[in-house]
Amino acid sequence: MSTRRYPHSSVSPEEFHKWLSALICVLNCVYFLLNMMVMQKFGIGAVQITVAVFSGYCFYKSSKGLYQPWHSYTLLTSLTLSILLSIAVMELVAGATYWGLALPFWYYSLFGLRKGFIFSAVIVLSTATVIFFRTDTNIFMPYRTIFNFTLVYCSIWLVCHVYEVQRQKTSELLHSLALQDDLTDLQNRHALKADFRAFHKNFENMHMLIIDIDHFKNINDKYGHDIGDSVLIKVADTLTQSIQTKEIYRLGGEEFIILLKNISDEEACRQAEKVRKAIELGIFFSHNEPIKLTVSIGISSLRPEHEFTDFLRAADQKLYQAKREGRNRVCA
Ligand code: GH3
Ligand code: MG
Ligand code: MG
Repeated sequence: MSTRRYPHSSVSPEEFHKWLSALICVLNCVYFLLNMMVMQKFGIGAVQITVAVFSGYCFYKSSKGLYQPWHSYTLLTSLTLSILLSIAVMELVAGATYWGLALPFWYYSLFGLRKGFIFSAVIVLSTATVIFFRTDTNIFMPYRTIFNFTLVYCSIWLVCHVYEVQRQKTSELLHSLALQDDLTDLQNRHALKADFRAFHKNFENMHMLIIDIDHFKNINDKYGHDIGDSVLIKVADTLTQSIQTKEIYRLGGEEFIILLKNISDEEACRQAEKVRKAIELGIFFSHNEPIKLTVSIGISSLRPEHEFTDFLRAADQKLYQAKREGRNRVCA
């Protein structure tokens, strides 16, 4: 499932990128002025103003909603290189190494667990190497500095890692609570609406199949609510197996929805007929007694002016036509 409709337990990477760009822009401008006017370090100053300009560009693009993942990679790469360069060329007492300690948090927040781990590992190794090869320190200095830097860095890295693991778990839990149907594990109505919004922009030929179990109330009345529940689960499994799409939802009660993208009206009818047959031929049991089950299906095809409710209402009208005409049939 895509990340577009994951509820985030914290600020999203895109939002984080935007404000981190602004921060990096301001910080690099300040350092640029200091290095040019006070320290007379023109080389590092030139690097810092380049990073400042690029981060300003990233902030501008994000503010306009034009964020691209390469912005984050380029921003963090240029920032990292400028920090490593500062550690390499400035006196160690200037404290450029402290900036390296902020990197794991930024990596994990922007790139997630795996890339956050890899980038953080690369940085601790390269920073320790740069400190080791510094020529302006006496012979004992590199070891003590490396030791302290590495320990503090690893402590921060560990916290970032644990936090990100926890954040991902919470995000997945929220996702399943918000978007998954508790009984059948299909996606729920919220997910359907979110998918509709996303697909509406990208797909012209979209069809909605609304599938309603015929006389389901009788099953509850005859076999009890628990058997009714297990029949709903079995129907959900049969739908998943009978059609090659992930866009299957439980709308509520004994009603299910399938979204089909980029197919003709005829193909949508063929797919609906396939689903109807799969349920009709499927074997549903109450203990050892087989239960005969059929479904009625209404199909609507998306029109440009359709909002979600119009699209659903059009399918619903066809469903009721199928019910009126005797059930166990498809109407388009
Ligand atoms: P029709 O052919 O006209 O669709 O008749 P129907 O009996 O299927 O439709 P009706 O709307 O009269 O009844 C739907 C039933 O579905 C009533 C309700 O008790 C049952 N139901 C709704 N949600 C659940 C559920 O989560 N579990 C169970 N076991 N039953 C449910
Ligand atoms: Mg119904
Ligand atoms: Mg029904």
